[in-house]
Amino acid sequence: MCPTCDASQQGVPNGTPAIPTSQNPPAINGTSSASNGLTNGSGSGHAQEHTPHNPRRQPFASVGDYLSNVSNFSIIESTLREGEQFANAFFDTDTKVRIAKALDAFGVEYIELTNPTSSEQSRKDCEIICKLGLKAKILTHVRCHMDDAKLAVETGVDGLDLVIGTSPQLMQHSHGKTMDYIRETALEVISFVKSKGLEVRFSSEDSFRSDLVDLLNIYSAVDRIGGVNRVGIADTIGVANPRQVYDLVRTLRGCVHCDIETHMHNDTGCAIANSLCALEAGATHVDTSVLGIGERNGITPLGGFVARMLTLDRDYVRSKYDLAKLKPLEDLVASAVEINIPFNNPVTGFCAFTHKAGIHAKAILANPTTYEIINPADFGMTRYVHFASRLTGWNAIKSRVEQLGLVMTDSQIKQCTAKIKAMADVRHLAIEDIDKKHQFQVKEQEMAAEPEARELDHVVEEQTKVLNGVVGEVDGREEKVEALNGEGVVVNGTA
Ligand SMILES: [Zn+2]
Repeated sequence: MCPTCDASQQGVPNGTPAIPTSQNPPAINGTSSASNGLTNGSGSGHAQEHTPHNPRRQPFASVGDYLSNVSNFSIIESTLREGEQFANAFFDTDTKVRIAKALDAFGVEYIELTNPTSSEQSRKDCEIICKLGLKAKILTHVRCHMDDAKLAVETGVDGLDLVIGTSPQLMQHSHGKTMDYIRETALEVISFVKSKGLEVRFSSEDSFRSDLVDLLNIYSAVDRIGGVNRVGIADTIGVANPRQVYDLVRTLRGCVHCDIETHMHNDTGCAIANSLCALEAGATHVDTSVLGIGERNGITPLGGFVARMLTLDRDYVRSKYDLAKLKPLEDLVASAVEINIPFNNPVTGFCAFTHKAGIHAKAILANPTTYEIINPADFGMTRYVHFASRLTGWNAIKSRVEQLGLVMTDSQIKQCTAKIKAMADVRHLAIEDIDKKHQFQVKEQEMAAEPEARELDHVVEEQTKVLNGVVGEVDGREEKVEALNGEGVVVNGTA
C-alpha cells in the first residue's frame, strides 16, 4: 500500500491523530529533505567501504535531518532488570556482578537494575553493584511511588527510572489511578529524587495505547515543572510499528526539552526497527538487553541494535563500544539463562557470516562487501564460505586449496567440485562424511587413479582439523579458527 495514500493508518492505535498540528509546527514537516544526503556523516566509514560503486547516497543510510540522533545516543542496558523478567532467568549475586562487569567492559552508558523493593536480595545486589566502581551509571527501575523511591535512593544508584501505566487498560485493571493522581504523584516523587541529587526518568507504560493528549500533558508537566532528566516512551506490549514510533517520538520531541528514552518490546519483531526510528525522530536513549531477554519474548537486543547502528555510523559505534566483547557477553548471558544463541541472531548466530551459494562465494572471495553489510572483523568474528553442498562453487574449493598451499589446476579443482556436488545431491554432507572413504564409494576407483583425489583427501583432512578448532595455516600465517557446525571454509581469517 502506498504510504501517502494511507495517512489514516499513520496515527497511534487508539485513533488519536498522530501529530497534532498545535504540537507540530508545519515548519518541521518535510524539512528533512533539506539536509538529506549529509546523513550526519553516517555515510562514511564502513558504509562507504561496502559500496564499490560509491553512489552519492547510501540506500540503507538513515534519514538525515536535525532531529536524528543516530550518531548521538546512549544505551540503557536492562539485562539485569528487564532481563530478570525473562522466563528462564535467575541471576544470583555472582552472576549479576559478572554480567554488570561485562556490560561495563562492552561500554554501555547505563546499567538498569531490578527494583530493590522486589526482595531483600534484590536490594543487597543493587548495593553491591553500585559499589563495583563501574564506568556505567547504575539505575534502578521502580514504580512511581514514594515507598519505592525512598528505598531506592538509599542503595547508592546514580538514578531512578520511574514508571507508571497510562493506558486505559492499565489504569482500569492495574493500578486504578486517574491521570490527575498520576500527575501529582509523579511530581512529588520526581521532586524527592532530585532533592537527593540523582538522575530521574519518568516513563509511561504501554505508551502506544495511551491517550496522546494525556501523554503529552504529563510529559510536559514532568519536564517543565518536575525537571526530569528523561521522559520514557515504552511499547510495553510490542504493538507499535516504526512509523507510529517515529510519529509519537517526533511529536514528543516538540513538547519537552529533556532527553527521551525508548523501551521497545519485540512481540511482533519490530523492536530494533522501532528503536532506530525513535532515534531518527529525536530520542536520545535506547533500552536493550543482551539477546533481547525480558518479559514474554523480550525487548530490543543489544547485539542486533548495535549491528543496526554500526551500518549507519560505524566510526561512532566503534568509538563507544568494544564490539569484540559482544560474543563473550552473549555467551555469558545465554549460559546464565540456559538458552542457546539463536541461529539467526545478528552477528553471533552461527551462520551470520556464512556464505553458501556458489555465486555468493565467488563474489565474497573477490570482495566481501558484495554480500556483507557488516564486517565480521569489527566484532572479532570470522567469515566462512560453506564447503560441502550441492550449491558449492569451484571458487570456494579453489580458495581453500590455495589457503592450504596445494598445487592443483583449475581443471582439477573443477573436477573435485563436481564430485562434491554429486555426493551432496545424494544427502546432506558434513565434513566428516566427506572424510570417510566410503562416501566416495561410487567414485573411488576413478578418483584413486587421479592426482586430484589425493589432493582432495588432503583438503578434507586439513579442513577437518580446522573445523575441530586446530590451529591452521591460512594465507601463510597461523591462526586459531572456530568450528562451524562441522562444515565450512575459513576465508580471510581474522583480517
Ligand atoms: Zn519492558
